[in-house]
Amino acid sequence: MTPVDTIKEETTQSAAGPNIPLSPQEKRVIKLFPGATLADWEDWRWQLRNRVRSFEQISKLMKLTPQEERGVKGAGDKLTMSIPPYFAALIDDKDTGCPIRLQSVPQDHEFQTAPEEMLDPCGEEKSSEVHGLVHRYPDRVLFLVNEMCAMYCRYCTRSRMVGDGNHTLNTSTYDAALEYIRKHKEIRDVLISGGDPLTLGDRMLEYLISSVKKIPHVEFVRIGTRIPVTLPQRVTPELIAMFKKYSPLWMSIHFNHPREVTPRVKHACNMIADAGIPMGSQTVLLRGVNDKPEIMKKLFHELLKIRVRPYYIYQCDPIVGSKHFRTTVETGINIMQNLRGHTTGYAVPTYVIDGPGGGGKIPVNPDYMVSKEKGRYVLRNFKGELYTYVDPTY
Ligand SMILES: *Cc1c(COP(=O)(O)O)cnc(C)c1O
Ligand code: SF4
Repeated sequence: MTPVDTIKEETTQSAAGPNIPLSPQEKRVIKLFPGATLADWEDWRWQLRNRVRSFEQISKLMKLTPQEERGVKGAGDKLTMSIPPYFAALIDDKDTGCPIRLQSVPQDHEFQTAPEEMLDPCGEEKSSEVHGLVHRYPDRVLFLVNEMCAMYCRYCTRSRMVGDGNHTLNTSTYDAALEYIRKHKEIRDVLISGGDPLTLGDRMLEYLISSVKKIPHVEFVRIGTRIPVTLPQRVTPELIAMFKKYSPLWMSIHFNHPREVTPRVKHACNMIADAGIPMGSQTVLLRGVNDKPEIMKKLFHELLKIRVRPYYIYQCDPIVGSKHFRTTVETGINIMQNLRGHTTGYAVPTYVIDGPGGGGKIPVNPDYMVSKEKGRYVLRNFKGELYTYVDPTY
């Protein structure tokens, strides 16, 4: 293995992974790890082991603002900072408003609590009879299989439970969840999420997927993950080969900003799509990150290019310490207004608010129905022009 320092600039690329040259920023970040090789950079386990977690490390990568310095030093008590080297290399160290930086580097605003904020805003605990299983909707369940993620998003709605080794789920808790699904014949859809299920090894993941798939009344299985974005090296040919055995399998990927769609992410999504796995995106509306119509539109266009269908935009949940990330519902409605009709319909996701306290996803739309009276509907199109539709009478 060749230490990275000895490799000539123009040939800096990995032998093990896709032929994508390291960016100047990646070369800067890999130097933080003496002796690291390009094969290491391509290795998702190396990336996980070497996540940027300390004040010392992050200060070598950028000059922290006073808010970040206090945030990084205090975050350990709450949600730890954890940034895979790959993702850290996407941070613009000169820009304190960099969208990647805002999502991954703690700020002291996290320690403030607004009156409307909650520890479990989506009320997942109370819809959970079995540890790790949330059964809110009639025909589907959310199966939270672990607590670990590659990167801890600072606005995480599950910050009550995510983190490295908070309360590790073991096979007996999995068995209880699987037993619950087996017993409830009305469950036809299982969403495997976490934490991030893709931080598990291939074998454990295969055990979970195959066990769920074996249940006769389960007809739809999907994986909810952010790893193809924060650690695309995890998407290996071996993982893809395993997934292919369990077709149909769908994937929901958490994407927030067009800058997240890098050549490496494109490569990962291409492999997933080529394996016949349909992908949808989930995006959290975040103040200062993606709260402008043109940024969202750009993100969705980038996603369509890599065969990811924009699925949901979430209003940011009122999790404790999230005020600096949350924006108004009006801002979200305005974004939707600027998408529908103005761009490809496939690029228009559904904007939802998870009803605080456990209401589930509630769609919020611009008002296109101006009036509705005795079967006459006055509708407004994307340009603001009015049209009338009349119901048939029999
Ligand atoms: C989001 C969610 C689902 C899946 O909802 P879809 O609208 O089918 O994507 C299922 N269960 C819970 C608890 C959820 O929060
Ligand atoms: S990947 Fe998902 S579960 Fe993990 S920290 Fe981010 S939002 Fe939370």
